[in-house]
Amino acid sequence: MLMQQLVLATHNLNKLREIKALLQGLPLEVLSLRDLTDSPLPVEEDEATLAGNALKKAAAAAAVAGKKAIVMADDSGLEVEALCGQPGVHSARFAGPGAGDAANNRLLLEKLRGIPPERRGARFRCAIALLFPDGDTCLIEESCSGRIAESPRGGSGFGYDPLFIYEPSGLTFAEMGEEAKNRVSHRGKALRRARRLLERRLNQQP
Ligand code: IMP
Repeated sequence: MLMQQLVLATHNLNKLREIKALLQGLPLEVLSLRDLTDSPLPVEEDEATLAGNALKKAAAAAAVAGKKAIVMADDSGLEVEALCGQPGVHSARFAGPGAGDAANNRLLLEKLRGIPPERRGARFRCAIALLFPDGDTCLIEESCSGRIAESPRGGSGFGYDPLFIYEPSGLTFAEMGEEAKNRVSHRGKALRRARRLLERRLNQQP
């Protein structure tokens, strides 16, 4: 019997590695869009919410993946309390289109200049959309709360990791390292829930 295919709606190699590792052991052939097409997804991530963007990406990927595959798409971002939830859905391009992590982090520090630690609360959020061949859609959302540091610390991770202090450890995500971060992060938690959901669905199949 052919194994059920699951297509990940991303071309990002770091995410692919992380998600594939977390889905290991399930009776699924995990493919990425890279395995199916060279072209990027024709999707503008312009929804007002992370969930909206994840659903939009999943629907676009489903058109490429075919009717028999499960499709998984995710979107994540950082919400800072003192900035009324900014950068949120704009996290990747906070400092402008094509802006890199360093420019985004600089702008965040600039906007929070003079704001004391107790008013630097923030949370990372992650939305994962799963589309099943029978038409079912599942949405999973998780978050991780913390505080924005006064200056970058640590060498691992990506994005806002050097500025995000995970309070129970007192360390930034970039100081904690990938494994410790994934145990508590928004994406780690959402992916573990997605795995449990997939396990249940696959067990129900005849
Ligand atoms: P994406 O939707 O996962 O690609 O995330 C969008 C943007 O949110 C990234 O470009 C990062 O700036 C930020 N971001 C999301 N998750 C994380 C994280 O775990 N650490 C640091 N930054 C993140």
